[in-house]
Amino acid sequence: MKAMTIGDLLKNSYRFRPRNKRVKSNTVLLKSVEFRGKRQKGGPKEKAPTPGTYLEVKTEVSGETGLWFQTINLLEPQFSKTWDRDYLVPVELFGMDYYMKSFDEKSGIRVRCTCPDFRHRFAYSDKDVHSLVGRPIPYTPVGGGAPVNPDNIPGHCKHLHAALEFLAQDEIKVIEPRLLRLTPGMS
Ligand SMILES: [Zn+2]
Repeated sequence: MKAMTIGDLLKNSYRFRPRNKRVKSNTVLLKSVEFRGKRQKGGPKEKAPTPGTYLEVKTEVSGETGLWFQTINLLEPQFSKTWDRDYLVPVELFGMDYYMKSFDEKSGIRVRCTCPDFRHRFAYSDKDVHSLVGRPIPYTPVGGGAPVNPDNIPGHCKHLHAALEFLAQDEIKVIEPRLLRLTPGMS
């Protein structure tokens, strides 16, 4: 089951939030970031990257409504023991130092945020494309308003976007910085 790509996630979110409905990302603030190499369940237990290894990024972002926790899984990372122009990003994995290639638009991604917007609007649609971290939390719509995501478009909330923006900074380059131009409506 292949997850959605970063490129699709970013493009979908742009479709979901058209240009005339800009999200004010200056209202959110990244508080912490943590990286960890993880193995797929049931995968080989070597202390080195193997097929199924992924990079888990955990962030905390505060917004107008509180502090929310994000998880981003970046799938099939490419590592090298030596630095070169393609393998620029230093990362520790299973206690060893590696250099990683920046993730590009074809890289698979899974996401989760604890905020209500993500939970109500995106959790189920992201699950449908194998890009939700964990399980969706069931909810009952209240008030009989219009459905928040009637076309079931997978996407990400502004907190996840702040985390992705951080990862795509020129000095960080975990994600290729040019990719954020795929969602002009969100920055
Ligand atoms: Zn969120």
